Amino acid sequence: MLDLEKAIESSLKLIKQLDSKKIDLINSEGHFNSSNVISPVDLPGFDNSAMDGYAIINSDLKQATKFKPKRLECIERSPAGTLPNKDIKSGTCIRVFTGSPIPLGANAVIMQEDCNIEKNNIVIKNQVKPWENIRIKGEDIRKGDKLISKGEKINAGIIGLLSAVGYKTIEVIRQPRVGLIATGSELIEPKIKLSLGKIYESNRTMLAAMVKQSNALPTVYPIVKDDLKKTVSALKTAFAENDLIITSGGVSVGDHDYIKAAFKQIGGKINFWKVSIKPGKPIMVGQANEKILFGLPGNPISALITFLLIVRPSILKLQGAKNCHLKKYKGVLKSEIINNGNRRHFVRVKLNEDSYVSILGNQRSHMLSGLPETNGLIDMPPNSRLANGEKVEVLLIPD
Ligand code: AMP
Ligand code: MG
Repeated sequence: MLDLEKAIESSLKLIKQLDSKKIDLINSEGHFNSSNVISPVDLPGFDNSAMDGYAIINSDLKQATKFKPKRLECIERSPAGTLPNKDIKSGTCIRVFTGSPIPLGANAVIMQEDCNIEKNNIVIKNQVKPWENIRIKGEDIRKGDKLISKGEKINAGIIGLLSAVGYKTIEVIRQPRVGLIATGSELIEPKIKLSLGKIYESNRTMLAAMVKQSNALPTVYPIVKDDLKKTVSALKTAFAENDLIITSGGVSVGDHDYIKAAFKQIGGKINFWKVSIKPGKPIMVGQANEKILFGLPGNPISALITFLLIVRPSILKLQGAKNCHLKKYKGVLKSEIINNGNRRHFVRVKLNEDSYVSILGNQRSHMLSGLPETNGLIDMPPNSRLANGEKVEVLLIPD
């Protein structure tokens, strides 16, 4: 049985980054940029006022006090978006607003709250420092600075920054197409009346949600009965239409588990089968026509956990993502956990805002009731115990 880290590494080795394409920034949230992005301009692009007020020469106010205010002649009004016509000379000022270019000759802005207006003059009781209330050209970003590096997940902040330096589009890796197949003769589609022995299929929708969360495009295929021929045919279709294929069920040692046999029939080469984790042990990973199949176990929790730990990094690597693994967060356990087994146990937990970590109900791999609250996993080594109050690392389930 393979170690988890070896299994992840072995899957990632099979992955080649997909092609890139240009898309509008407005549609780029969640995608991964394919190259470093450089600023074509300075930001701010010109010296401008940080306040509504008056552009002045600071030495003109050197002696200004409450008792001996200073009087300056206002020679122009220069709203944001226009350029002043005049330069400032000693004894004069120009009316400016937030974002107005700083007139030549000025080296500070005094805010309007500190000025009294008398006809064409302003009367000032305060002094100001050089460059006070001025946003200086290039103080935020210099032309040629790196704005983001390759493989970043594009978020609102990145979109705001790139828009501010004038980009309209961005080069991203195209979204992987991911085919989802559920196998099991006991599975039925929603809305069909349950008969004894049948259960509603639930892995495809759950996996589709996580595939989307990883910025890939899921396609859900019809349920496949436990039958070799039908499994072969379903795999053929999914391999023709997707970059990566995920199956659930039929990968264990039962007489009716056909994934491995069917995969071999379509020319697949099994990379590994079985990883030393609980839940999720029977996961199988293989390759056919340069595309990867992840054969997940059918128990919903096993499918969830193997997806998060092993499949998700591969979907992200297809997109050139810089960070492929689950983020970690430190919390404090609210109860004891014991792993008596000889495999690593991934325990479903809820990490609260106060950093306390609670264990969610029954942890058996067919039990779904704790899922809505689950937001993390604890990686428990074999034969280990964590005490109540102990500090633990939680693997965060992305939302
Ligand atoms: P298997 O991995 O095929 O041996 O299935 C293990 C358990 O998971 C069985 O109890 C199945 O009924 C259940 N199961 C398999 N696939 C699904 C699915 N897609 N949705 C819900 N339960 C499933
Ligand atoms: Mg089955």
